[in-house]
Amino acid sequence: MPNRSLPLSAYTATMAPTKFNFSAGPALLPKEVLLEAQKGLVDYEGTGMSVMEMSHRSANYDKVHRHCIDMIRKVLDIPTNYHVLLLAGGATYQFSAIPFNLLGDGNAVYVNTGTWSKKASTEAKRLFGERIKVVSTPTFTLPKVEDIEIPENCKYVYVCDNETVHGVEWPSAPVFGDVPLVADMSSNLFSRRLDISKYGMIYGCAQKNFGPAGLTVAIIREDLVGAAHPMCPVLMTYKTHVAKTWPAERNQDSLYNTPPTLCIWITMLVMEWIDRCGGIDGIEKMNRDKAAMLYNYIDSSPFWTTFVEGEIRSQMNVVFKCTKDDVDRAEILDFFQERGMSSLKGHKSLVGSLRASIYNAMPKEGVECLIQAMKDFEAAH
Ligand SMILES: *Cc1c(COP(=O)(O)O)cnc(C)c1O
Repeated sequence: MPNRSLPLSAYTATMAPTKFNFSAGPALLPKEVLLEAQKGLVDYEGTGMSVMEMSHRSANYDKVHRHCIDMIRKVLDIPTNYHVLLLAGGATYQFSAIPFNLLGDGNAVYVNTGTWSKKASTEAKRLFGERIKVVSTPTFTLPKVEDIEIPENCKYVYVCDNETVHGVEWPSAPVFGDVPLVADMSSNLFSRRLDISKYGMIYGCAQKNFGPAGLTVAIIREDLVGAAHPMCPVLMTYKTHVAKTWPAERNQDSLYNTPPTLCIWITMLVMEWIDRCGGIDGIEKMNRDKAAMLYNYIDSSPFWTTFVEGEIRSQMNVVFKCTKDDVDRAEILDFFQERGMSSLKGHKSLVGSLRASIYNAMPKEGVECLIQAMKDFEAAH
């Protein structure tokens, strides 16, 4: 805690303002969206009310809710036999919800490829023990689909599509025959086009790539909803969140209780922003260009190196480090901060690492600015 006897300017004056925020999450949102949100925060479209102040049963909020789901469906081209659930709580809540809802009387395979899949499998195992089969791979690699053994009566295979800490991303959906694939896309949902039909369930918390913390979007095939464990808490049961009018009103899911209305509205604004950026294909192209720029530079410099090689490199979280042992990471981070770039420290589990999270809202200029700073730092050493 700062010493409160000093004026606030005493702290802020020493820190360069952030121009580019590379945080892994909660992460940056498009400036355009923040400005729109600022307006509606006080007076939503002339109603004289903030979105925060509206009943979730009111006509005005109803428009927001339906439009948010419609836009999510449009952006990802979601088939009509999938629900889009807007759930409160973080991605971690789903670590418990998934086995409770999907395991039934069977088994599940969890593919451990980093911090987040490990956390998910640990919780599933805590709840359901031996029925959860865990396949682990060496750090910074992904297994081959054909090397994963699927047991009898397997209800789903669980993967983390983008390991936010380790910077490993599945380049395409790992399909295991008819066994439903469940994917944690907390740090890459809405970053690229998906063939939704290859998945049983996709979910992602909002605060990495598309909204404020407090909302998780789950996209679930309709036949997978409805066979939850009898002890599954009511709000954790996916069926609870399905509209009574489904499938006629597919955009009326998630109104059983008060949903996180403010997060849903801001997510709706982000979906409209994606639409204006050329839709999911436009966003994907920007993301691929940004990631290629950064990886190409790192590959070309003997001063920097990545942890991950080849096509499994994350397009969202670039994990790297300095190859010189005598260079202090704090010095690098200060150097970046002086140039207005914040939150580039890697996860504590990867010693000495740096991480640039370059989500949808990171402009190309941010990546260019980072590359220039890396070049300048290298030149100064
Ligand atoms: C951040 C993250 C989580 C955890 O999200 P919470 O909302 O904090 O529970 C889970 N999975 C992945 C891949 C993440 O990046």
